[in-house]
Amino acid sequence: MSKVGETTLVLDLSALEHNYHYLQSKIKPTTKFLGVVKAFAYGSDTIAIAQKLEQLGVDYLAVAYVNEGVLLRDAGIKTPILVLHPLVANFEEMIEQCLEPSIYSKNILNQFLEVAQEKEQSQYPLHIKFNTGLNRLGFSESDIDFITQKCKSNGNVKIVSAFSHLAASEDLNERDFSLNQINSFKILSDSLSKKLGYAPMRHMLNTSGIINYPEAQFEMVRSGIGLYGYGNQAEIDEQLKPVATLKTIISQIHEIGANQSVGYNRAFKSTNIIRSATLPIGHADGIGRQYGKGKGSVIINGKKAPIIGNVCMDMIMVDVTEIKCQAGDEVIVFGPANSADKFASTANTISYEILTAISQRVKRQVINK
Ligand SMILES: *Cc1c(COP(=O)(O)O)cnc(C)c1O
Repeated sequence: MSKVGETTLVLDLSALEHNYHYLQSKIKPTTKFLGVVKAFAYGSDTIAIAQKLEQLGVDYLAVAYVNEGVLLRDAGIKTPILVLHPLVANFEEMIEQCLEPSIYSKNILNQFLEVAQEKEQSQYPLHIKFNTGLNRLGFSESDIDFITQKCKSNGNVKIVSAFSHLAASEDLNERDFSLNQINSFKILSDSLSKKLGYAPMRHMLNTSGIINYPEAQFEMVRSGIGLYGYGNQAEIDEQLKPVATLKTIISQIHEIGANQSVGYNRAFKSTNIIRSATLPIGHADGIGRQYGKGKGSVIINGKKAPIIGNVCMDMIMVDVTEIKCQAGDEVIVFGPANSADKFASTANTISYEILTAISQRVKRQVINK
């Protein structure tokens, strides 16, 4: 893999391709695939990832907010884009950019219908979101009559899908709860189809859903984290390839005598002589302070170097006493050699959070296009 001269998030598109094919192998060939590219494609590079997914033949893309979809359209992405959490303020722009809303409440439906009529739309695609237990966004059973009354004979819009989201697809202790959600979704979507007089496409599974509940794949699945190489369980992680590797270099090495301290607030105190390396990456780049004080470790020349003291805005210091290294040597924060999931767990969080935390200050380098 490429050497870097500054803090860089290296994005390996051949890993993305591998993950896409792996996830597809878990579903029927006729099931459609939606790639989730919200939050800068899980902190990576929205456009590079979306272009690759489009090239691989993905059926749909999804973002959380309208501005994320606009970015994709501006880059020439033609694939249908579902916006998971549209807000009324963006409805006009949404229609202008051909972005398809998740409709999750009566108010959102009413307001979208108004804008679709003003803008003289015909059969504008809508996606109906059902709440089956996550209790975040979505309609309930008692709203179905309202939805069908509003949409059935309204030529401005067309309901193209019905969907829901599992609350604990990665947690097999919650299997009964998940099966219940799947069952509720079947009932809700059947009722919607019956009342509409046609059957919109149905989708419910995220990455862990694809792995743990393939029987609920319906007509489409929605994968995010799996595409980026993480499966929320060790056996699946083994089959996937991390797309992102966060690399940096050593800026300076210090010999720290006994009874000295390192960093702000003297959070690290040496009892023996140690060697520390200062790295040009800090909490402004996404490595939060919770990784400091010995929790997170980076990899230098194949060995683990724990972060010592407090994480600074632009730098961290790591203990390299046992590692042969010098200024300019490469450092891996996470990637295939130091899983983002494991790195995240040192600060009691999950791969999703560390991946999406990598700030826009960090250079992106796309390889294996
Ligand atoms: C983010 C998101 C996904 C993707 O979930 P992963 O666990 O990353 O696969 C799917 N569906 C919805 C509604 C989401 O918000």
